[in-house]
Amino acid sequence: AKGDIFRGLEVVEHACSTTSLQMGETTAGVAGSTDVHSYRLPLGVCAGIAPFNFPAMIPLWMFPMGMVTGNTYVLKPSERVPLTAMRLAELAMEAGLPDGVLNIIHGTHDAVNFICDEPAIRAISFVGGDAAGKHIYSRASANGKRVQANLGAQNHAVVLEDAEPDATLKALVAAGFGAAGQRCMAISRVVLVGRAREMLPPLVEMAKRLTLGPGHVPGVDVPPLNSPEAKERVERLVASGIAQGASAPLNGAGQAVDGYPDGNWVGPTVLTDVTPEMECYKNEIFGPVLQVLHADTLDEAIALINANPYGNGTAIFTRSGAAARKFTHEVDVGQVGINLPIPVPLPMFSFTGSRGSILGDHNFYGKGAVTFYTQWKTVTSNWKPAGGDTALSMSMPTM
Ligand code: NAD
Repeated sequence: AKGDIFRGLEVVEHACSTTSLQMGETTAGVAGSTDVHSYRLPLGVCAGIAPFNFPAMIPLWMFPMGMVTGNTYVLKPSERVPLTAMRLAELAMEAGLPDGVLNIIHGTHDAVNFICDEPAIRAISFVGGDAAGKHIYSRASANGKRVQANLGAQNHAVVLEDAEPDATLKALVAAGFGAAGQRCMAISRVVLVGRAREMLPPLVEMAKRLTLGPGHVPGVDVPPLNSPEAKERVERLVASGIAQGASAPLNGAGQAVDGYPDGNWVGPTVLTDVTPEMECYKNEIFGPVLQVLHADTLDEAIALINANPYGNGTAIFTRSGAAARKFTHEVDVGQVGINLPIPVPLPMFSFTGSRGSILGDHNFYGKGAVTFYTQWKTVTSNWKPAGGDTALSMSMPTM
């Protein structure tokens, strides 16, 4: 939760520094006495629709950039975490935000459809799952709105034989099981290349030592899932993987935590011998599950990732600069980590997930957000000196 707030505040800080990114363009003297200048204007009212998993950071990806570019904003937080957005709005007002600039509406489908249909709303930022994102993108686009939609993900880490073992194992365990895997940049697939498969037993051992429990208790590593439905989905997909031939050297189904009988507990789970045809591989699990696949070569690992429909994030662990460079250039994923597992860019860059992980043309924060939340106006002006040529000309002006 502290990371959620800190990474969100980085975007606020970035939003406060975008003045030069908002500057226009000028060319003087394009023809006799004629100058052209372009400048960015706000769109008017913009809206954000957020998921549950980062209750502060993802709203903070949205309204600060929308507001510093001159728009007013309507934010719909996830119905599962409605209070954090209210606190953010209180703090923004305490900091001097005028009444009416940031507006929060709560709800689920009706609230979302209102945002998609309301003519005054000109642009929508969405982050969440595929079903909602595709619905919002098509409904709002049909109404003439701009939409940027960050969708689901299945992020692979590739481990080469020369990877530094201890740091790699810690990175995989943290990125796979931290926040119980409920992060769009979580590592959910590990591809062990060649002899790197020897890392499987220590990976399982390290995962076994993690402590499941309530997230506010010091020393807890893996918190509960967000809803009974999420627990059911994770357990169902793990069971389907086992039924389809995967093995589970560690299975966190059916765990209990003292004092919390109603928690949505799923312990760290490692599925091995997973293949791309399995249901557990084809679906986003969004839980504390690492699926392990094997490849004989780096080329095979890259082909596997490129055949996956999503492009949110990926990582490679190696001590070879040449292998890392080859991976970076050949993998068709928008955010790449080298020896680090969750390459979420700082906000002066944009969040650049690709392929099935995004709909729309402009990325969140950074230059992409300034483009998304503004429109251009271009002015061509002619200030002839007094007494200049005023002859009537019916031809297309060229000079
Ligand atoms: P979700 O899609 O269930 O909900 C997101 C928002 O859409 C919520 O505000 C919800 O009220 C609304 N919504 C949900 N279903 C809807 C429907 N059928 N019609 C209209 N509105 C609907 O997502 P979630 O479970 O809150 O969050 C987890 C998902 O978000 C995962 O798929 C994760 O990968 C994704 N995510 C992606 C990124 C990214 O940047 N790519 C970041 C964080 C989370």
